[in-house]
Amino acid sequence: MTTKQSEVVEGFVLKSTPYKERDVLLQVYTKEYGKITIHARGIQSPKSKNRAACLTLTLSQFTIIYKEGISSLVKASIIHEYRILKQSIELEIFASFILEYLLVMTESHEPDSDIYQNAFIAFEKLEQGYSYYLIYALFIAFILRIHGCSLVVDGCIECGRKDHLTRISYSGGFVCEECATKFDKPYDLDVLRAFRYINLCPMDKVDCLDMEEAIILEVAKTMQQFLDEFSGINFKTKKFIKSLLI
Ligand SMILES: [Zn+2]
Repeated sequence: MTTKQSEVVEGFVLKSTPYKERDVLLQVYTKEYGKITIHARGIQSPKSKNRAACLTLTLSQFTIIYKEGISSLVKASIIHEYRILKQSIELEIFASFILEYLLVMTESHEPDSDIYQNAFIAFEKLEQGYSYYLIYALFIAFILRIHGCSLVVDGCIECGRKDHLTRISYSGGFVCEECATKFDKPYDLDVLRAFRYINLCPMDKVDCLDMEEAIILEVAKTMQQFLDEFSGINFKTKKFIKSLLI
């Protein structure tokens, strides 16, 4: 009976909450169903074979009995462990930010292949040694895009002109000299150019970008401001990320 109803999904564990004696409730972002809750029985027991696959910062395959409320875990196995990522505090912080986004800003039971794919690629790129500032900035650009708040990087956000763009406005993108207010920060041309490319570049085309780390860092700081303005969410990972964005 159980095997008949069970199905296989893949995803990232976002959060693990102890439940009853040896069980946990897992929040998992799955490819198939979006964010779901899975009841994993006996997982806190050292003997549990499913334990390793139910840790965060791991991509795993879960055999579950799917339910609209809480699904039940039958079996879990690791697809990708991200060993390098787990050995670096910095990488772990940026990867944790991606998981936190999935936890707090996606709806349960609403699968989204774009979100899943971008999170997956971001994890792969962090593991492969790409600049974590760059992956962070690209992921925020993706978040803004998918929530319908793409930044304006082809002209002035106020008047649309395409020249004399020297500043970035936190109301949504480039602003020209004439429309700028004292709140709009001026940037070097290299930073403005990188800001534009990062906002236009899909995560899987990261190889097309060739920028100095100091410039990427400036863009990453700016993108963080945009995320704050847009989401209004005080991400738990923010204070750790802030300590790295200096
Ligand atoms: Zn203007």
